[in-house]
Amino acid sequence: MTDRASALPYRGRFAPSPSGALHFGSLVAAVASFLQARSRGGEWVVRIEDLDPPRALPGAADEILRTLEAFGLFWDGPVIYQSRHQAQYRDVLDQLAHQDALYPCSCTRAEIADSSVRGIDGPVYPGTCRKTSVASRTAHALRVRTDNAEIVIIDLIQGELRWQLQQQIGDFVVRRSDGLYAYQLAVVVDDAAQKITEVVRGADLLHSTPRQIHLQQLLGLPTPRYAHVPVAINGFGEKLSKQTLASALDTNTPVPVLHQALAFLGQQPPLELHSSGLDALWQWAISHWQARIVPRAAAPVPAWAYRHPGDVDN
Ligand code: GLU
Repeated sequence: MTDRASALPYRGRFAPSPSGALHFGSLVAAVASFLQARSRGGEWVVRIEDLDPPRALPGAADEILRTLEAFGLFWDGPVIYQSRHQAQYRDVLDQLAHQDALYPCSCTRAEIADSSVRGIDGPVYPGTCRKTSVASRTAHALRVRTDNAEIVIIDLIQGELRWQLQQQIGDFVVRRSDGLYAYQLAVVVDDAAQKITEVVRGADLLHSTPRQIHLQQLLGLPTPRYAHVPVAINGFGEKLSKQTLASALDTNTPVPVLHQALAFLGQQPPLELHSSGLDALWQWAISHWQARIVPRAAAPVPAWAYRHPGDVDN
């Protein structure tokens, strides 16, 4: 499964959604994927996942890119925008439809919540529309059929992982009822088009991996290697995100922030590098990077990395 990926030149990626500014949690994923690539002399590309216009914050994509630059996270080649790939996603959906791998589904969220069992990543779709035909004029999503095959990976950080996709996750949406392509489909198409050999990202996306491998298998695409870095959580045990009041990264102080991101990733940057220049810290980080000592479990972040609900905005 991973043989094809290891024979190709290393290519990693960072794929932020432009729904807000970069925070400490997204920096951790960016730093880990960058170091995996650079420590192997590989390439590192940036892809803006702007598939969901209502969630995109105007200006966020540019702000993310400026923040990456301020932290010395320089990417290779042009930045890719998913919003420009609609034709490719449509072609892939056509291919899946020809293989009879898809079916229309008009179930509402409430109906699914009522009739489904809880899986490892939300409700397992009970397959209601698998057998019934949905009139093409009613608003419907497209789901991909899953099967009983077990999906197994050796994640570089999380170790061996196994999923029974059908029982644990169920048939999943590849095109939403509002017509937007789903994240799972777009990521698979773009990781293959960009020849990504290893996906390094947050462990909050762990259960997306078997969905993506299922799509790769249906489409005859290579499966990259995977490494899922620990989730950054705030003092309330919540994953850092815009909703949980993650603070935007301060681009004026990249060195101490990067130092803390490296420590979060289990690396042990010498204390004196705290007051060094950014180049010296990166040099140390690239030459000492060890994915194998990155911890598996979610961990709390420094207090500055999020605000408390009562904090006043300044
Ligand atoms: N766009 C996703 C996010 O910002 C990451 C996708 C990925 O790395 O596969 O959470």
